Amino acid sequence: MPTEYGVVRAVVYRVGTGEPPEEHVALVVGDVAAAGSPVLARVHSECWTGEVMRSQKCDCRDQLDQAMRAVADAGMGLVVYLRQEGRGIGLGNKVRAYALQQEGADTVDANRILGFADDARRYDVAAAILRDLGVGRVALMTNNPNKVRGLVEAGIEVTERRALHAEPNEHNAEYLAVKVKRMGHEG
Ligand SMILES: [Zn+2]
Repeated sequence: MPTEYGVVRAVVYRVGTGEPPEEHVALVVGDVAAAGSPVLARVHSECWTGEVMRSQKCDCRDQLDQAMRAVADAGMGLVVYLRQEGRGIGLGNKVRAYALQQEGADTVDANRILGFADDARRYDVAAAILRDLGVGRVALMTNNPNKVRGLVEAGIEVTERRALHAEPNEHNAEYLAVKVKRMGHEG
């Protein structure tokens, strides 16, 4: 697939037996299976509001863009793009959570009010995709130590964590601060 980052191989994975099936995508640059060293990688969760609609409420699009650029610049690496909107709670619930936030709840509280865990994303799927692509060791682009832990528990060796830096704006500054204060992210 030709993209503004160059030519990217898109590999779609179908998970489970639901109808329609759950589909995730690996965006791959270079022969990652043959890489002798840890592969530059990001595990990214879908954010329709940020990535398609360019919502200013989060930094997802910025992080995806930085990760794709880094992979393209390195000429080797991949982004595992998990189709799990709103930290795994779905688009409808995410928009309901936004409504709660407008009434004063922060992103963690809003999810709790709706009865969801702070972060319902599943890293076992990402680990299985990495293994299928022949990638067992990664340099992971993330600010989220829980993501590193989740992948390690799922059997992927994370040799290095590389931070991504988002520019705060007036709409997402508090969201970014909550990720650091309440969700263990590195700023
Ligand atoms: Zn987002």
